[in-house]
Amino acid sequence: MEVPLLDLQAQYKDIEQQVLQAIREVYEHKLFVLGPEVKRLEQEIAAYSNADYAVGVASGSDAILLSLMALDIGPGDEVITTPYTFFATAGSISRLGATPVFVDIDEQSYNISPSAIEAKITSKTKAIMPVHLYGQCADMDAILDIAARHKLPVIEDAAQAIGAEYGKAAANKKAGSMGDFGCFSFFPSKNLGCMGDGGMIVTNDADLAQKTSILRVHGSKPKYYHRVIGLNSRLDTLQAAVLSVKLKYLGGWSEKRRKNAEAYNKLFKAKGLLGLITLPFTEYNNKHIYNQYVIRTPKRDQLREFLQEKGIGTEIYYPIPLHLQECYHQLGYSEGDFPHAEKAAQETLALPIYPELTQKQQQSVVSSIGEFFNS
Ligand SMILES: *Cc1c(COP(=O)(O)O)cnc(C)c1O
Repeated sequence: MEVPLLDLQAQYKDIEQQVLQAIREVYEHKLFVLGPEVKRLEQEIAAYSNADYAVGVASGSDAILLSLMALDIGPGDEVITTPYTFFATAGSISRLGATPVFVDIDEQSYNISPSAIEAKITSKTKAIMPVHLYGQCADMDAILDIAARHKLPVIEDAAQAIGAEYGKAAANKKAGSMGDFGCFSFFPSKNLGCMGDGGMIVTNDADLAQKTSILRVHGSKPKYYHRVIGLNSRLDTLQAAVLSVKLKYLGGWSEKRRKNAEAYNKLFKAKGLLGLITLPFTEYNNKHIYNQYVIRTPKRDQLREFLQEKGIGTEIYYPIPLHLQECYHQLGYSEGDFPHAEKAAQETLALPIYPELTQKQQQSVVSSIGEFFNS
C-alpha cells in the first residue's frame, strides 16, 4: 500500500469550495498587498495563539529575521539556539551579521537543553531562540527563567508548533506567546500551510508589534519616510484569505495528528517493536501537535530504504546538524561538540502522520517496519 509522507490532495478535497470562494473574493476586490484578509488573519492567529498582536510576513524565515531586526540584533551579537533544526533558525541570525551560538539538545524531546544555555551566555549574547521542534514546545519555563535572570529576550521559532501547548494544565501556554516573539511558518507542509510561502510574527508587546510591522514595509512610516531600514516582507492577501479558511480546521487536523500518533504508539507496542525503535517522547502535560511523528533507530538509513521500496514516504529531519554545516565551518565547531544532536541526525526518521492518514495505512507502515526488523 502506498503511503505518502504528506497528502495535501486529501485535505484539499474537504475545503476546495471555500478556498476557491476566498480566492475569488480577493480577485474581485484586488487589494493584493496587505488587504483586509491579512488584518483579519492577524487577529485570528493572535487569538489562536493567545498573543496580543500578530504581523503577517512573507515566510517563517522572515518572521525570524524581522524579530531579530526588531531587537536590533546585528554584527558582533550572539544568539543562543539549537543546532538540531531547519536551517532558517540559524541562517536568519547569520544574515544579520550576528553569530548563532549552539548548545546541545535534550536527548528525548530533541529540543534545546536549557541546562546547557547558561554556560554560553556572554556579554555579546543578545537573545535566546528555542525551536519547538516537530510540534512540541521546548522547556520554556526553564528557558524564560534563564532569560529573565540575564535580561535577554526570547524568540520562539514556532514554525512547526502553531497551537501546541506547554505547561501545567491549569495555565497552558500556547506556542509563540511565551517569549518576546513567536514565529510561525505557513509553508505547505506545516500544520497550517498556505499555497506557497507565508509567515507570521506574534508578540504581546505593542512597541515590538509596531516595529516589526514597519520593518516589513522597508521601514516606512509614514509612507515614503524611513527612519529605519527594513525589507519587503508581507504576507500576500491571497495567502491570508486561504489561511483563514484553513484555520477553522486547524484544531481538528492537529487533533487527528495526535490521534494518529497514539495509534502508531499502540501498534508499535503490539508488534513488539519498542526495543528496536524509540517512539516520540512527549513531555508531561505538553500538547504536542505532531507536525512530525519521528521515531529513531540506529538502522535508520536501511529502514528508510526498505520503506521507500514499499512505497512508504519518510523524511530525515535533519541529516546534518547546523554546527557541522559547511557554511558554518568558520564558527569552529567540530564533530563531538553536540553528541545528542549528532546522534539524532543519524537515527531519526519521520513517518507519515498527516490528518487524513487512514488506519489501514498506519497498519501498513507498522507492519512494514516490523517486517524490516524481523527479516
Ligand atoms: C519551516 C521552518 C522555518 C522556516 O519557515 P519558512 O516559512 O519555510 O521560511 C523555520 N524554522 C523551522 C524550525 C521550520 O520548520
